[in-house]
Amino acid sequence: MILLISDLHLQEERPDITRAFLALLDGRARSASALYILGDFFEAWIGDDGMSPFQQSICQALRAVSDRGTAVYLMHGNRDFLIGQAFCEAAGCTLLSDPSVVDLGGERVLLMHGDSLCTRDVGYLKLRRVLRNPLTLWILRHLSLANRQRLARKLRSESKAQTQMKATEIIDVTPEEIPQVMAAHGVRTLIHGHTHRPAIHKLMVDGEPARRIVLGDWDRQGWALQVDEQGFQLAPFAIG
Ligand code: MN
Repeated sequence: MILLISDLHLQEERPDITRAFLALLDGRARSASALYILGDFFEAWIGDDGMSPFQQSICQALRAVSDRGTAVYLMHGNRDFLIGQAFCEAAGCTLLSDPSVVDLGGERVLLMHGDSLCTRDVGYLKLRRVLRNPLTLWILRHLSLANRQRLARKLRSESKAQTQMKATEIIDVTPEEIPQVMAAHGVRTLIHGHTHRPAIHKLMVDGEPARRIVLGDWDRQGWALQVDEQGFQLAPFAIG
């Protein structure tokens, strides 16, 4: 059995979500061969050297799961793209690039965080290109912790203000983008998060039936996609 989750936005201010995540690790994840976390695992990440005690406790919890034999894969989201190799080594997880094609239950599946599919959000994509540029990443990682904290606060407040102004269709994925991306990777299943619109969408790719599975964010309820003999099952569960 394989589990996929995303958009937990783990933070000290939401102990209910943290408890639900730890319960998942202690429950279903125990019998999972693999756990995929498709981005925005943390609400914010300013660098592996700036881990708070809270973030270190999450790191240790992940480590315990991988030590028990569950392979843990982590993809960057737009909130935690500064997670680096040091964290992954400490947590015993493997960093997945976005996009990645993996084998899930015998099927080639495309995994993404999902922000790069929101192509109508031109301003955000511009910012994304700048932030993910290797040179920018190098500079960010070499800024002092205090400066990174300041920068993270600024980006967050700007993103909040802009999201409130933008029409909802801008922040969702661009529908026309999906079949192209899937065809380019030769897959019939795409799994992503980011949009906080959990659903399984049917579509056609190269004249064949295909599906796009959107993982949900964790807020009033949590979401997990379970892949086993019965197929791909996306279901919410209670938090708190
Ligand atoms: Mn996101």
